Amino acid sequence: MGISIKRDDYLKVILTMMIALGISVGMVLPADQAYADSEVCWTTSGGKYHYSWCPTLNRSHYLRYGSISDARSRGLTPCKVCRPISSGWQQDGNGWWYRYPDGTYASGGWVAIGGKWYYFNNAGYMRTGWLNVDDNWYYLSSSGAMVTGWNKIGSSWYYMDASGVMQTGWTKVGSSWYYLQENGTMATGWLQLDDSWYYLGSSGAMATGWVQVSNRWYYMNGSGEMQTGWLVLGGKCYYLNEKGAMAAGWAQIDGEWYHFTSSGVMQTGWQKIGKPWYYLNSSGVMATGWMKVGESTYLLSETGAMLTGWQKVDGVWYFLEVSGARKSNCWVGNYWLNDSGEMVINSWVDGGRYYVGEDGKWIPDYTDPKESVEGVECNSVTVA
Ligand SMILES: [Zn+2]
Repeated sequence: MGISIKRDDYLKVILTMMIALGISVGMVLPADQAYADSEVCWTTSGGKYHYSWCPTLNRSHYLRYGSISDARSRGLTPCKVCRPISSGWQQDGNGWWYRYPDGTYASGGWVAIGGKWYYFNNAGYMRTGWLNVDDNWYYLSSSGAMVTGWNKIGSSWYYMDASGVMQTGWTKVGSSWYYLQENGTMATGWLQLDDSWYYLGSSGAMATGWVQVSNRWYYMNGSGEMQTGWLVLGGKCYYLNEKGAMAAGWAQIDGEWYHFTSSGVMQTGWQKIGKPWYYLNSSGVMATGWMKVGESTYLLSETGAMLTGWQKVDGVWYFLEVSGARKSNCWVGNYWLNDSGEMVINSWVDGGRYYVGEDGKWIPDYTDPKESVEGVECNSVTVA
C-alpha cells in the first residue's frame, strides 16, 4: 500500500513548512474556519496521536481518527513532530488568547471568532473594556466581544455603529434622534446647542412637537428646537414665553393682557373667566373701558371685568343691564338716561313731560321756579 495523502493535508504540510521556514503568513486564518479539534489520528500499534499529515505516521497501518480527548482517553500522547494541540481559546495568568490549530495565535489587531470581533494585543492577549484604534473608540465586553448598538457602560448609555465605533453628536437610531456627547455618553433632559434648546427624554430620544416637562408645556419644531413667542398651530394661537413655557390662564404680553385655556389656546370674544365676563378682541387683547360690540355698548373695568348696574364714569352715571349692554333713552326707575346713556340731571326729559332733579331723580309735579316767576311777571304785566 502506497502513501496516500489527502489534498487538504498537502495544504497543511505546505503551511507548516512555511511557518517552519519563518515565512510570515500574516495571520489571515479566519478563526471561524479553524480546523476542528477532532482531526487527529493514531495507529492501533502506536502510542502517539498525530495530525493526519504528520510525516512520521506509519501509513502502512490502518489509521483511526478522533478528537484529542479521544486519543488521550486511550492513553496516547501527542507526537513531538506534528505536535497536535487543542486549538481555540486559552487562558493563562496574563489573560485570554486564541490558538490556531497550526500552533500560531491571534495577535496585533481585530480577529473575528465565532461571528464576533475580538482585539488582541501584540503579545496575543485579548483586550476588554474601552479601546482606541485610529481615533475611534470601541468597547469590548468582559468576554472580549466588540459591542455594537446601544450599550449601558457604567451608568451611561453609548451607541456604537455596526463597526463598533462609538458615536458622538446627533445620531439617528430607528426613527429618533439622539445626542451623544463628546465623550460618547447619551444626553437626556434639556440640552443647549448653538443658542437652541432641545429636550431629550429619559430614553434620550429628541422631542418634537408638544412636550411636558415639570408640569409645563413646551413646543419643539421638527428639528427639535424649542420655540418661543407666538405660535400658530392648526388655526389656534399659543404663546411661549422666553423660556419656552406655554402660557395658560392670564398672561401679560408686551403690556397687554391675554387669556389662554389650560391647553394654551388664546381666547377671543366674550369669555366668562371666574365670575366676570371679559372681552378679548380678535387679536386676543383684553378690552377695558367703553366698547361697542354690534349694536350695544359695554363698560369694562380697568381689570377687564364687564360692569353691570349703575356705574359712574368721569362724574356721569350710566346704567348697564345684566347682559352688560348700556341702556339709553329710557327710564331706569326714577332716573332718565339720554341717547348717550348718561343719567340726566336738572332737566325736563322724556319729551319734556317729566323733570329730573339735581340727583337725577324724577320730581313729580315739578314747577319750574323761573317759569313761575316769569309767569308772575307775565301775569303782573297782563294784570298791569
Ligand atoms: Zn506526528
